[in-house]
Amino acid sequence: MQEYKLFINGEWTGSSSGEMFDDINPATLELIGKLHKANEEDVKNAVDAAEKSFHAWSSTPAPQRARILFRAARMLEERKEELSRLMTVEMGKVLKEARGDVQEAIDITYYAAGEGRRLKGETTPSELPDKFCMTIRRPIGVVGLITPWNFPIAIPAWKIMPALVAGNTLVFKPASDTPILSIELVNILTEAGIPKGVLNLVTGEGKTVGSEIVHNRKVRAVSFTGSLETGKWILGEASRDMKKVSLELGGKNPIIVMDDADLNLAIDGIIWGAFGTTGQRCTAASRVIVHEKILPSLLEKLIGRTKELNVGNGLHENIDMGPVINESQLRKIAKYVDIGKKEGAKLIMGGNIMKPLPGYFFEPTIFTDVSPDMRIAQEEIFGPVVSLIRARDIDEAINIANSVEYGLSSSIYSGNIRNAFKAIEKIEAGITYINASTIGAEIHLPFGGIKSTGNGTREGGTTAIEEFTELKTVYFDYSGKLQKAQIDIG
Ligand code: NAP
Repeated sequence: MQEYKLFINGEWTGSSSGEMFDDINPATLELIGKLHKANEEDVKNAVDAAEKSFHAWSSTPAPQRARILFRAARMLEERKEELSRLMTVEMGKVLKEARGDVQEAIDITYYAAGEGRRLKGETTPSELPDKFCMTIRRPIGVVGLITPWNFPIAIPAWKIMPALVAGNTLVFKPASDTPILSIELVNILTEAGIPKGVLNLVTGEGKTVGSEIVHNRKVRAVSFTGSLETGKWILGEASRDMKKVSLELGGKNPIIVMDDADLNLAIDGIIWGAFGTTGQRCTAASRVIVHEKILPSLLEKLIGRTKELNVGNGLHENIDMGPVINESQLRKIAKYVDIGKKEGAKLIMGGNIMKPLPGYFFEPTIFTDVSPDMRIAQEEIFGPVVSLIRARDIDEAINIANSVEYGLSSSIYSGNIRNAFKAIEKIEAGITYINASTIGAEIHLPFGGIKSTGNGTREGGTTAIEEFTELKTVYFDYSGKLQKAQIDIG
């Protein structure tokens, strides 16, 4: 069985405790690797290595840093199929989605590399003569990155690539359910030429490894994607040391379907949004808010299409939906189905763990007669469970869409431009799709949410550069005399 070590100061190193943990294929329950379990001491060593390498890396011209990323992007492209298969084995998502995950990593790597020749500040006139004003972007320092398991290479790449091109040095902790993909990513970046100490990887438990990253005084910023619960804790702890914190958290994303919608198009979007990645996306569509006039026909079509989904091991090309990530997630989904039934929602389809299959499989599940205040309509389930909620008109539909604490993604299907613009203006979410599902973010646009989904930062696009840099304002006075702003004018 292959053993995977920590990567500290350019060396693959055993954990100081000597402890290990297992990586399991969620479709077959086979052991696929043994990982070294880091402790606080290992994290301190990783942080120290990152701190030591900061001066040299941040002084390397950004276009040269970017050349390494261009090389890494080409290597990711060459290894796309192999990495995709590994992802399906490690995380369970079906192969065509795994290829999309790797492609996202390739895209963000090229995009961030391109930023090496931009990293723009601004120039603006001064209010005084013979004086020049501008802003420049500076790296933050040692940055801690903590990632979840549902996009095992895309999310690490969304953080690592802009953080590196901006000149930061990194301590990276991947999710314990999907560390091998992260190890492969670090291998590629190292082979592409990232100098020792610049990128350090520590695998192990959130409550030890993650916690030390959050508490270590030398770490100046923490970028976290994961659950609301962990995100709240990280924000509270890290802000005590005035660290910069960016949070990308959960969602309870709605699709609104109006009575003037193209119903078949909407069904395609619901199936993809609710059951793609087995519902384990922060942007998954777990609520479908339907105009009452079309509810019966929508339901009939939805049931028909859901019955056609093939559930199984995602390595087979005919499979539409793979397993969920682990046993505790499987139990959590089953618990929410019970809660839904007890609350009075009607279970129309699915609702069961698929016992004959060896792995962690759950049936695609549909609830109707769901009221907006039920727990299944409010809380993130993170599984293949969708709730249908009735609405009388666009205003009620938008009110229902906004009645949750999250605000990540949202969608409306309607042929009426007024409905579409109302949704754009009034839905409380970081992302709104018109006549498309809640999932499908593109890497060159800002990605993130409002309310409890985050704390205002955005990944993707140039906003990712904002996440991983500090602004410095520069005043250059070449008048040769003391000039006082606000005083020596007019
Ligand atoms: P999670 O349990 O919060 O874990 C996320 C990461 O945090 C893992 O690496 C985990 O380590 C680590 N962690 C756990 N406790 C920690 C602590 N006390 N201190 C520091 N790190 C800690 O979330 P998850 O179950 O992996 O991911 C699913 C969640 O992520 C969902 O809520 C989903 O909506 C959200 N998500 C959001 C986005 C977005 O962009 N908004 C994207 C994808 C996913 P271990 O693995 O070792 O426990």
